[in-house]
Amino acid sequence: MSYSTHGKKRKMKKDELRPETLEDYVGQDHIKDLLWTSIEAAKIRDQQLDHVLLNGPPGLGKTTLALIIARQMGWKIKTVIGPTVGSPKNISKLIMGLEDKSILFIDEIHRVNRPTQETIYPVLEDNKLQSYLSTDVEIPIPPITIIGATTNIGKLEQPFIDRFGLYFQLEYYSNTELGEIVFASAEKLQFPIGHDGVDEITKRARGTPRIANNFLKRLRDYCLVDGAEPTGKFTADIIWKYLHTDEHGLRPLDRRYLKALDGKEAGLGLEALATIVREEPDTIEGFVEPYLVNLGLVERRRNGRWLTENGKNFVQKMRSPG
Ligand code: ADP
Repeated sequence: MSYSTHGKKRKMKKDELRPETLEDYVGQDHIKDLLWTSIEAAKIRDQQLDHVLLNGPPGLGKTTLALIIARQMGWKIKTVIGPTVGSPKNISKLIMGLEDKSILFIDEIHRVNRPTQETIYPVLEDNKLQSYLSTDVEIPIPPITIIGATTNIGKLEQPFIDRFGLYFQLEYYSNTELGEIVFASAEKLQFPIGHDGVDEITKRARGTPRIANNFLKRLRDYCLVDGAEPTGKFTADIIWKYLHTDEHGLRPLDRRYLKALDGKEAGLGLEALATIVREEPDTIEGFVEPYLVNLGLVERRRNGRWLTENGKNFVQKMRSPG
């Protein structure tokens, strides 16, 4: 396999690895069927798509799905991020300023403050806004669809969740699915990589396309600069040495987290754990724990977080490598 550095340099778009259609969107089959049918039905009825709520850890493809929905509907999309949405007045102005047939994508919707979330209720329910000047005045708004994305569904009230007609839980990707994504990305990047290299990437990517693509891009850079081939061994070495991720996809923060739980007679609460591992509780809850729970190493119970039997064995091996 050869990787030439003499080819023409291509100018890259910001995220050229994002799939643009549902056909190219790998995996999440439990979502795609229902979503595709709902979109096509909305188009036939010439009505807005029901509001959509997407839940899942970062990097699993929520934003990508929102963009695909907008493209397939042929509607414009406006993106905002939860904490920057601001007051009820701000969101009212934002919604009033939307053109007909717009999608409002609210990323990290669990970080929209409560009063502002309440302003969204009548929009979700009957396409109306309550005037922020007087609660008696309701203002009809043009057809819009709100797509919310969250990494932490537990922070949203059930009545709020229930007002989204379409609710989708994104799942971690299998290694086969991740492999498909990495090969497609490698082709877009014009970076020839074989199965050995791809396997090493997918094993370490935490079931997450964003991480897999990121590993691939860094590997490409190292191959380019060092003139190396992306063999399995080279790939594994780069990911360990420079990206500090082991063969299970664990990073230093995950390892600190597991060690913090090791040997504890009682479960540890989120805040205590966050202090011990020196990280934001949101990062632990939204990024670290879902993966460790998925690996079967950690359990989240009412009375705190616990290592499972597998988790205890795992930490023991981690402490005494070889
Ligand atoms: P999220 O919004 O959930 O954090 P994104 O939609 O930004 O995640 O996805 C991160 C990146 O991973 C995307 O830019 C895209 O390149 C890739 N990706 C995500 N989901 C898929 C998928 N199902 N198929 C192919 N690539 C994907």
